[in-house]
Amino acid sequence: MNRRVTVVGGGLAGSEAAWQLARRGIDVLLLEMRPLRTTPAHSTEMLAEVVCSNSFGADGPASPAGILKNELRRLDSLILSCADESRVPAGKALAVDRDIFSRKVTERLESLPQVSIRREECVSLPEGPTIVATGPLTSPALSSLLQQQAGTEYLSFFDAVAPVVVADSIDMSVAFRRGRWGQEEDYINCPFTRERYEAFWNALVAAERALPHDFEDSPSWFEGCLPVEVMASRGIDTLRFGPLRPVGLPLPGTGEEAWAVVQLRQDNREGTLYNLVGFQTSLRWGEQERVFRMIPGLENAEFARLGVMHRNIYVNAPAALDSRLRFREGRTDLFLAGQITGVEGYMESTAMGCVAALNAAALVDGVPFPEWPRGTAIGSLLHYLEDAEPKHFQPMNMNLGIMPKPEGKIRNKALRCEHVAAKASEAFDAFLEALTRSTGSTPRTCEAPDSK
Ligand SMILES: Cc1cc2nc3c(=O)[nH]c(=O)nc-3n(C[C@H](O)[C@H](O)[C@H](O)COP(=O)(O)OP(=O)(O)OC[C@H]3O[C@@H](n4cnc5c(N)ncnc54)[C@H](O)[C@@H]3O)c2cc1C
Repeated sequence: MNRRVTVVGGGLAGSEAAWQLARRGIDVLLLEMRPLRTTPAHSTEMLAEVVCSNSFGADGPASPAGILKNELRRLDSLILSCADESRVPAGKALAVDRDIFSRKVTERLESLPQVSIRREECVSLPEGPTIVATGPLTSPALSSLLQQQAGTEYLSFFDAVAPVVVADSIDMSVAFRRGRWGQEEDYINCPFTRERYEAFWNALVAAERALPHDFEDSPSWFEGCLPVEVMASRGIDTLRFGPLRPVGLPLPGTGEEAWAVVQLRQDNREGTLYNLVGFQTSLRWGEQERVFRMIPGLENAEFARLGVMHRNIYVNAPAALDSRLRFREGRTDLFLAGQITGVEGYMESTAMGCVAALNAAALVDGVPFPEWPRGTAIGSLLHYLEDAEPKHFQPMNMNLGIMPKPEGKIRNKALRCEHVAAKASEAFDAFLEALTRSTGSTPRTCEAPDSK
């Protein structure tokens, strides 16, 4: 087979994918529509533009985001090496000078003989092995085509995500398990007294919001899926007669009805994560933690992800994709990468760029697809995409809750993270060895900076 792959979209994932392919000697045609056509969030013509925060998240070796970064470094990630080179001080996080970072990525890719970069909007799916990495703001023409490939119901256009908490961090001496009217025992319920509900309501309506413009442009969706703070601001009892209604949820022991109840629904098959039902929100992240910890039982909750509401095109991965990031039905040489696969975040998108590139490389070389171990950070993200509940699927970022639980209970979070990091590192060693055996080439590692 011709050793050539087309990559559509020169964002974080597409740039990473192009690099990973090129360093395996594969020719790449990279199509990027900017500057001819842009998105509501991008403002430059550089590849790998960082659209919002300049932070790539925690970089400590024992934090889930740090584990992911180290795996990317060990894969000689272009995005990570340019980020390390354009680092600005940000405590334990990896933050970058966004202009220097994107310029470096652009120059490195432009300098590679295997990569041709064409500035054009892709409006039909290219023939031959292709990676689509057009991100959460994929142009309308291409998103319609993807919708046809995925099936209408499997391509989402908005994120309306409720916060997700780690199950172990819920205080079950306060919360209790029960389904409304005694059905569906898998819900966890956090009961309010009147006094605590009123304090919570006051904090909620006064909390600082971060409502993006594109959200305000979508009035029909706005009515159909109200942020919890907007619903609350319609009156002190609106939530009590809506998602926080206590009926059918008597308190264990007394059988009395609470003043209001927040229900938490299981979010992953392992039962390590729970989302707050009806709590899609656009409150600022710090405000979410402050206000939602006022919910009885969640005082010490560990948030695996916080709520967001913004335009975000992504596929319902567990329903629409196979384990190689291809549509279940359709072309076997068409891979997705980046945020569109159903992950969320700069590093997570980059990781899915690596995965798609290694899969496309395996396809063109006729070798087996890489098997990412479940215990690694990248393997855990892939596991989430494959295994999450399709009915309530929402994009996920890297967090401890999606990684395998350590055997035995380790209560201390730092120790738990260290344990998971050590296991992930062992599994990643084995992965790299297997990759070398199957492809006959050794990935070059780049220097990891001191991440303390
Ligand atoms: C407004 C907004 C803010 C965000 N803020 C953060 C944040 O602070 N932190 C964080 O971790 N994550 C954030 N994200 C989520 C996500 O991490 C980023 O969007 C990330 O850039 C996704 O990487 P990607 O490579 O999948 O997509 P992108 O980086 O968006 O790259 C996609 C590329 O494809 C191009 N493209 C689109 N359609 C076509 C087409 N038809 N033909 C050719 N090219 C095309 C685009 O121009 C773009 O360059 C944010 C997302 C949005 C929408």
